[in-house]
Amino acid sequence: PGRGALAVLGGDLMVRVADGRLLPYANLDIAATAPCAVVAAEAVTRLLPSYASVHRGAGVLSQHCTRAYEQARAAVARFVGCRPGDQVVFTRNSTDALNLLAHVVPASTPVLTFLGEHHANLLPWRQTVHLPLPRTPGEAVAAVDEALRRHGPALVAVTATSNVTGEVWPVAEIARVARWHGARVVVDAAQLAAHGPVSLADLDVDYLVLSGHKLYAPFGAGVLAGRADWMDAARPYLSGGGASRHVGSDGTVQWALGPGRHEAGTPNLVGAVAMAAVCEAVTATGWAALTHHEQQLLERLDAGLATVAGVHRLVLFGPAHPRLGIAAFAVAGLDSAEVARRLADDHGIGVRDGLFCAHPLTRHLLASAPTRLPGTAVRASLGAGTTREQVDRLVAAVARIAAQAPSQRPASRDIA
Ligand code: PMP
Repeated sequence: PGRGALAVLGGDLMVRVADGRLLPYANLDIAATAPCAVVAAEAVTRLLPSYASVHRGAGVLSQHCTRAYEQARAAVARFVGCRPGDQVVFTRNSTDALNLLAHVVPASTPVLTFLGEHHANLLPWRQTVHLPLPRTPGEAVAAVDEALRRHGPALVAVTATSNVTGEVWPVAEIARVARWHGARVVVDAAQLAAHGPVSLADLDVDYLVLSGHKLYAPFGAGVLAGRADWMDAARPYLSGGGASRHVGSDGTVQWALGPGRHEAGTPNLVGAVAMAAVCEAVTATGWAALTHHEQQLLERLDAGLATVAGVHRLVLFGPAHPRLGIAAFAVAGLDSAEVARRLADDHGIGVRDGLFCAHPLTRHLLASAPTRLPGTAVRASLGAGTTREQVDRLVAAVARIAAQAPSQRPASRDIA
């Protein structure tokens, strides 16, 4: 299951665990970086023998590559629901895209952002208004409304889906409130873009960002998509060839308009083409099969973890709120790094531990649990290529590890 929806590489990797057994590797860290899709690898393989300069040469290969790059841009624009007047700028990743947007935001425009954001959507902004963590999606919308009343037209920077909890944020509702106040919205779609439809037009937001490496394409390509006016008004994010239309003999510059203004230097054609191949494949087949597969696995994972004594799930909006295939948890009495190490070394399962580049949110979730938890958490995440067998192995392994936690061992008087 899942392979038909979006086949990925690496599913047959084996790993030797501490007791000497050779096990199929279970990559359950897909929210950090997804495995490479077969369509992405094929697109790269087709391109490599005939690649040359983009936007520079007159030769037939340069023409071919320039066309491929601009076709990739158009495919991404369709994937993210660009409207007339929107543009797609290729960046290195979501972090780069958000820093680019922070660079073009007019100096007088404050940026509202919740403290639950990934650091990529928390740290780049200059004039930041930090909103406290909401307890419900309704509280999030009300907080934006209230802040916009005080701060006037601002840029609201919000994630579509938390990389810690997998919870879906009320972006369309926030966008409605923002519109009412004449504010703009940027959506961090780094997580959502790989699991469900995300559209500038449907959400009625101004900008969105995503990362190719989370979208089943290789590293090194990301996107900032959205309205062109601030981007065309600001100085280029990077200065150099491609960003400049004319440089006079006295050094004066006329900068280019459009996406090229912020894409100085030779662009990452391979990354753009790979990412576009995934976008086209998903646009053609739709998300339904993949979403269904992931939701079934998530339910199985949730149900399994719920049976393990000592495991505490981390969610902000409560267990009934819609989530993507992410499950963050901590085991009472066990260091999360130790849990992750044992999952890897003893069970051949890859997860992530720590504070997930969202320190305020993860610390808040750990501190507000009813039980005393360690200072960091474990995160398992699913996607295309994840199997039921991997989910079951994870649950069984966590149960074995949790059973050894000091707090889960019976007290000595109980043993008798
Ligand atoms: N936002 C979210 C929600 C993310 O999950 C991530 C990656 N963990 C980022 C932004 C940053 O993405 P990248 O590291 O590809 O720049």
